[in-house]
Amino acid sequence: MAQTPKRPTPEDEVFMKSLADFAHRELATDRRSPFASDVVETSTGKLVMRRLNGVRIENDPSSHAEVRVMRAACKKLKTTSLKGHTLYTTCEPCPMCMAMALWAGIDRVVFGSTISDASRHCAQIYVPAKTLQRKSDMDCEVVGPVLRRECVALFEDPRMLSAMALWKKSRGGKPAKPARRASGS
Ligand SMILES: [Zn+2]
Repeated sequence: MAQTPKRPTPEDEVFMKSLADFAHRELATDRRSPFASDVVETSTGKLVMRRLNGVRIENDPSSHAEVRVMRAACKKLKTTSLKGHTLYTTCEPCPMCMAMALWAGIDRVVFGSTISDASRHCAQIYVPAKTLQRKSDMDCEVVGPVLRRECVALFEDPRMLSAMALWKKSRGGKPAKPARRASGS
């Protein structure tokens, strides 16, 4: 179902700032990640759940922050539907996470940095979240980038840069490629 992307609300910036600040504080810990997500009740602004990326900690390539936070929110609320909820995420969701948001019936997805921002630091799949939504039957408003600079700063923090360089080395990864723009229609 085609939808016109909406502009972020002032509340979106407040929620994104809180999430980016949380991720920034976590840079001082072993859990550090530029990827953090919140599930918030859309009508009240109540925070239901907050998670960081857990791929390394859980040895699970699907443990992206968005997947983890939606799983935890569903468990907490004892439901398979997150209708009535907004997903805030410091980086534009990858196709796996965006598909899960659609399956979960999330009302709105609000993201900080973009897939092309993230591609400067780690491998990405170049399908924009808005494209995935347009190719689905689900109504979901995709809004972003919101506070992009603050969210990009999470990747660029020296503690994050050195941690990512080590992880890449341990995975036998290649050096970062020039940023690529996610495209699709
Ligand atoms: Zn993802």
